[in-house]
Amino acid sequence: MAMYFVFMGPPGSGKSTMAKKIFEEYGLAHFSTGDIIREKIATDKKFKEMFEALIKEGKLLDDENTKKLLLEKLKKSQIKNGFILDGYPRTIKQTSDLDNILAELNAKLDLVIYFRLSEKAAVERLSKRLYCPSCSKVYNLASVKPKNEGICDECGSKLDVRADDMPEAIIKRFREYENKTKPLLEHYQKKGILKEIDVDDEVENNYKKIKSVIELVMKKKIKK
Ligand code: AMP
Repeated sequence: MAMYFVFMGPPGSGKSTMAKKIFEEYGLAHFSTGDIIREKIATDKKFKEMFEALIKEGKLLDDENTKKLLLEKLKKSQIKNGFILDGYPRTIKQTSDLDNILAELNAKLDLVIYFRLSEKAAVERLSKRLYCPSCSKVYNLASVKPKNEGICDECGSKLDVRADDMPEAIIKRFREYENKTKPLLEHYQKKGILKEIDVDDEVENNYKKIKSVIELVMKKKIKK
């Protein structure tokens, strides 16, 4: 039984952290367009020259290139149990691109989970965020600290601060989010597949809430 989720929410709301935990517990694949784009910047010189500055500034990549990169990644992956999309779609055009991608897979979106968090709390989290450029694991100096300072628990690589987690870029990312991504909430609400969850608690408590929603969808699907 395959399931398809979208995790939506402002930067710093914990989408990747939660998607990775769901992957570890349920084996549901996790695709983050942010991770895919960072990986492409790290490995493709031409792409880096064209788009690194834009991403560092906190702006969105164009819809066509984003779709292309996501499709390439999906084609290379074995998708058995479905997936969580983290950070995609982010524009109205991307919602119809996603419908087409899912149609090709003979799949349907089960639920869009909206991670609700105030801008103040999200900025606070982002200012303490570190990430692993090798395996993409995310840390937070207040809540999810690495066991050894500055080193990834998973793969031993040196942790870094994302260029777009700098204060000026954070402001731009929030503006992009308000202008281009927030309108998607109404779109999915109308379709009746939106669930909003407050994620202003500690990681484990937020995870319990996300998990219970995912389990509910699983149970409903099994019954059908
Ligand atoms: P994230 O890791 O989700 O915060 O994404 C980091 C950056 O990658 C964003 O600020 C955008 O520049 C770019 N990005 C990620 N996902 C998308 C998307 N769906 N559409 C366009 N740009 C994206």
